Amino acid sequence: MKPALLWGIDLGGTKVEGAIMDPERPDRAIARTRLPTESDGGYEHIVTRVRAVVERLESESGLRRPSVLGVGTPGAIEPATGALKNSNTVCLNGRLLGRDLAAALGVETRLANDANCFALAEATLGAARGCDVVVGLIIGTGVGSGIVVHGRVLNGLHGIAGEWGHNPLCGERTPCYCGRVGCVETAISGPALERFYGERTGESVSLPVIVQRAVAGDADAGATLGRLTDKFGEAIAAVINIIDPDAIVIGGGVGNVDRLYGAETRASIRRHLFNPELRTELRRPALGDSAGVFGAALLARTTTHW
Ligand SMILES: [Zn+2]
Repeated sequence: MKPALLWGIDLGGTKVEGAIMDPERPDRAIARTRLPTESDGGYEHIVTRVRAVVERLESESGLRRPSVLGVGTPGAIEPATGALKNSNTVCLNGRLLGRDLAAALGVETRLANDANCFALAEATLGAARGCDVVVGLIIGTGVGSGIVVHGRVLNGLHGIAGEWGHNPLCGERTPCYCGRVGCVETAISGPALERFYGERTGESVSLPVIVQRAVAGDADAGATLGRLTDKFGEAIAAVINIIDPDAIVIGGGVGNVDRLYGAETRASIRRHLFNPELRTELRRPALGDSAGVFGAALLARTTTHW
């Protein structure tokens, strides 16, 4: 029997994207649409925006919505209650989004945070296809990750599995928005690297410009990327020591920095690794913008979560 089509919604702070995917032809969506989230309109409005995207998918494809829909969300889902937490779209926090979307749409919903969706898509269809244990990193404005084991997302007791961005780094004391100090995110997020360069030069420039300047021989830009290499190595070695993944896919804006995939970064990881060699592959994402919505669609399969 032909596997059912999978419907996914990627709910972001600025846009809601929906796609219908054929699991046998995952390279392209059967239908795909997006609308602005308009999160300023509040929680109930966001629910209506998701419903509007589902209705658009129906009209574009001529299909009816299936009985199960996957939804990627900003923030984590507390497994004990189903309430959203840690979301930067703050009106979602504390809300039973899965239940409310199910009521609004008349279907079962399966939710996962956006980093888990990214990891699931890259592990199933993308850069780490065929790997058993995959960590999908998001390093951008924030730092997070999703862990996929044998094709399923490892969610965890508190729904925070993979939150390495708020692990502490040795010797770092920068305060983090989370209330702790010296978190990985305070050292290697895009804004943290831009701040580091700014403190050395008095200039406020974007990370892509810093990378260009480093290539051109700017010493302060070189030191900024050196700091990324050092701190990323320390931070990700802690993850590898525990998860020991086959592959790590690096998404988010900082994932575009070539040096992360080179010999310096691997040497930095090895300095902190409890093993004489490092075989884990560091890979660039393969699915681009599609990872979020395809990962959400994959949640609609029968055995996606542990
Ligand atoms: Zn933190």
